[in-house]
Amino acid sequence: MKKINRNIREWKNIHQTFSQTIENYTDLANEYASNLTPLKMYNESTEGFMQLIDSHLQSNIPLRVLGGEWSWSKVAASSGILLNSKPLNLSFGIGINSVSSSYLKTFQDLYFVQCGTSIRELNDRLRIIGRSLPTSGASNGQTIAGALSTGTHGAALDFGSVPEFVVGLHIVVDKDRHYYIERESYPVVSGRFTNQLKTEVIKDDELFNAALVSFGAFGIIHGVMIETQPLFLYESRLDIMNYDNNLKTLLSALDFTHSAGTIPSERPYHFQVVFNPYAATNNAYVSRMYKRPYNNSYNRIASDFEWNIGEDGPAFLGKIFDIFPGPVPSVVDSLLRAKYQPYDNKFGTHGEIFSNTSTNGKVLSLAIGVPVTEVNRVLELIKITNRTHGPINGLYALRYVAKSSATLGFSKYDPTAIIEIDGFNSNTMYHFYTAFVNGLETENIEHCFHWGKVLYTNRQKLEKSYGSDVIKQWLKARKKLLQKDELMAIFTNDLMKSWGLDEILIDGGEDVIT
Ligand SMILES: Cc1cc2nc3c(=O)[nH]c(=O)nc-3n(C[C@H](O)[C@H](O)[C@H](O)COP(=O)(O)OP(=O)(O)OC[C@H]3O[C@@H](n4cnc5c(N)ncnc54)[C@H](O)[C@@H]3O)c2cc1C
Repeated sequence: MKKINRNIREWKNIHQTFSQTIENYTDLANEYASNLTPLKMYNESTEGFMQLIDSHLQSNIPLRVLGGEWSWSKVAASSGILLNSKPLNLSFGIGINSVSSSYLKTFQDLYFVQCGTSIRELNDRLRIIGRSLPTSGASNGQTIAGALSTGTHGAALDFGSVPEFVVGLHIVVDKDRHYYIERESYPVVSGRFTNQLKTEVIKDDELFNAALVSFGAFGIIHGVMIETQPLFLYESRLDIMNYDNNLKTLLSALDFTHSAGTIPSERPYHFQVVFNPYAATNNAYVSRMYKRPYNNSYNRIASDFEWNIGEDGPAFLGKIFDIFPGPVPSVVDSLLRAKYQPYDNKFGTHGEIFSNTSTNGKVLSLAIGVPVTEVNRVLELIKITNRTHGPINGLYALRYVAKSSATLGFSKYDPTAIIEIDGFNSNTMYHFYTAFVNGLETENIEHCFHWGKVLYTNRQKLEKSYGSDVIKQWLKARKKLLQKDELMAIFTNDLMKSWGLDEILIDGGEDVIT
C-alpha cells in the first residue's frame, strides 16, 4: 500500500465547521503494478494496514481512517494521524464458489467493496452490471465505510439505512490480526472467499451488529460485503399539502391505507417531507417514491430538473449559501418555493435521483431519530423554537426508515422518523439547536442523535437513549475484537471520550477471540 504523508498539521472537515490539530494526514492508495491482480492489490493493502497499526502501537499515536470527510461532528477527527482512504476503491463481483451453501440469496446479490469507494462510484459501477443499492443518503460523496460507520440513511421506510444492506465486514485490528465478520444467523460467504482474503472468520451476531455503526472505534474496516438489488426505477411524485390533521395522522402512523388528500393507499418505498420555516401557509412538501421494475424507455429526471429532486437540505442550502454567503431568509424562502414545485411521473434509478456530491456553502445539519408517534410533537417544538430562538436560516425535513440492526444505529425505533434541521453555519443556528435540544429534554421526547451531524450527547444521555445494557454490549464487543488496551487507545478519539465510549469494560474480555 502506498502511504504519502502530506505534512499537514491542521485538518478541517468538508464543511469547515471545526479544525483539529493533527500529527499528520496520510494519503493511502493500493499498490498498482502490472503483475498484481485486484485481489493481490487488496491483500497487499491489508498488509499495509497491519504495518500501519504496528507502527502506531510502537509510537502510541492514535490513528483514524477518514471517509469522505463529510461528517459535521468530530467523529472522524483524531489528534494523531488521519488516513485518507478514498483512493482505496476496488470492488469485486462475487463468484458462485465464494458463497456459503447456507446463504439465502444468490452470488449475484453480493458485491465486495473496498472501504474508500464512494457511494457515487458504487452507484455507477452497480448500474453497469444491472444492480442497485437499496438505499443511501440523499447526497453521495461519502465512502462506503464512512457512510456505514455513522448509520447514514435515506428515506426507505420499510428497508432502513446503509447498515441494513451490509452483510460482512473485513476489519484489520492489529499488527497481525484481521477478520472477516458476519452474523452467525446469516451466513454469506464460503471458506474459499475468506481464504482468498487470507483472513480469519468470525461468525457472531452481537459483534457484527456492534461493528456496523462504530465510527472508527473497532479498527480499520478494509472491505464491506453488501447485498445489492436488481436495477430498479423510482416513480417519483411531490405534492404540496396542508399540514392539517389528516397529514399529521399520516406522519405519526404511516398508515397509507387511510391516508390524507391525494396520497394513494400504495405504500411508498421512499417517503420524505420538507418544511419551509418562513412560509405562513402551513404547507408541507411531501415526496413519495415507488419502486418500479427497470425499463429502458423512461424520461431521465436529471434532464428535466435544474434542482435535482433527490437533493437533500444540506446540498440545496449549500448552493444558496455559496452565492449568498450570509443569512438571507427571504432568499432561502423564495428558492425553497421555486425548488419544491409539485411533479409526478418522474422516473430515475437510485443513482440518478440521489446523485449529488457537492458540499458547497457554510451549512450545518442536526438530525435526530424519534419514534413515529412523536413526529408532530417534534415538529411543533421546532416551530416554537423558531419563534423563540430563530428565525433559522434554513429548512427542516422528515424522513422515515425501518429500525436498524446496528447496536448503536440511531434509527433504533421501529420504524424511525428522522427529523433533520439544516441551516446556515452561524451562532443563531447553534443557539437554535441548543434550545431545540433543551426542548426535547423538557418535553421528555425520546430521541437519538445522528452520529455524523451536530449532536449534544454524553454517556448519561446515550444510556437514556439506547439503554445502558446496549451501551455495554457495544463496549463489550469492542473489547472482544480489539482485546488489547493499547489498541483501544489508538482507535479512540476525543469525541468518543466525551461520550464515555472509551470505557474498557473490566469483564469485557472474557469472551476473547482466539
Ligand atoms: C452534503 C451532505 C449531505 C448529507 N446527507 C446525508 C443524508 O442524506 N443522510 C445521512 O444519514 N447523512 C447525511 N450526511 C451525513 C453523512 O452521511 C455522514 O456523516 C457520513 O458518516 C459521512 O461519511 P464519510 O464517508 O464522509 O465519512 P467521514 O465523515 O469521513 O467519517 C465518518 C466515520 O467513519 C469512520 N470511517 C471512515 N472510514 C473508515 C474505515 N475504513 N474504517 C473504520 N472507520 C472508518 C471515520 O473514522 C468516522 O468515524 C450528509 C453530509 C453532507 C456533508
